[in-house]
Amino acid sequence: MNRGIVVVVSGFSGAGKGTLMKKMITEYDEYALSVSMTTRQPREGEVDGREYFFTTHENFERLIGENMFIEHARYCDNYYGTPRMFVDEKLAEGRNVLLEIEVQGALQVRDMYPDAALLFVTPPSVEELENRLRSRGTETEEKIQQRLARAKEEAKFIDRYDYLLINDDLDRCKEEMHRIIRAAHASPKYNAELVRSLTTDLERY
Ligand code: 5GP
Repeated sequence: MNRGIVVVVSGFSGAGKGTLMKKMITEYDEYALSVSMTTRQPREGEVDGREYFFTTHENFERLIGENMFIEHARYCDNYYGTPRMFVDEKLAEGRNVLLEIEVQGALQVRDMYPDAALLFVTPPSVEELENRLRSRGTETEEKIQQRLARAKEEAKFIDRYDYLLINDDLDRCKEEMHRIIRAAHASPKYNAELVRSLTTDLERY
């Protein structure tokens, strides 16, 4: 059985990443979704161990010291990190592990897992992004402006990603994402061992 791939998914707030992740794990067996740890307060409806593992700053810093995270980052005064154990277990079982994380973390993952696939999800236009943020109806004008300002910063990193995923239609986007991951399994980066052995064997000639 082949090892799975680490699939990093980042994107603007309002791009629909969360819904896309849920769709991926319910529709295809070969994906597992990593649950991050954070020091931020749970939002209404969030359950410990489902959306996040919620913890204190003190505990988070202790776990950083114990090398329990693949990556971690600070985002709006809170820590967020990906626990290592779940990811490594699922990869060994042959599942592709989805990490929905922001850009600083995404780049750390690339260092740790060189064959990771980095996907950036965006709505088709800024106008559409703004519409989606407003139509949630839960955000103040100040928060909407904050998220758009952050999107402007995040956009500077899009070139560091491997694939751009345009979320105009959820089902189309899900299928496209699945195709991308299938294709990533055929990349020489993912097949580094085979490439090495082919190269070594060819040295005889
Ligand atoms: P929120 O507080 O809205 O749930 O998440 C804020 C940001 O943190 C989002 O961009 C989300 O993708 C990112 N995030 C969630 N979990 C992690 C993580 O484990 N590591 C990193 N680097 N970012 C994360």
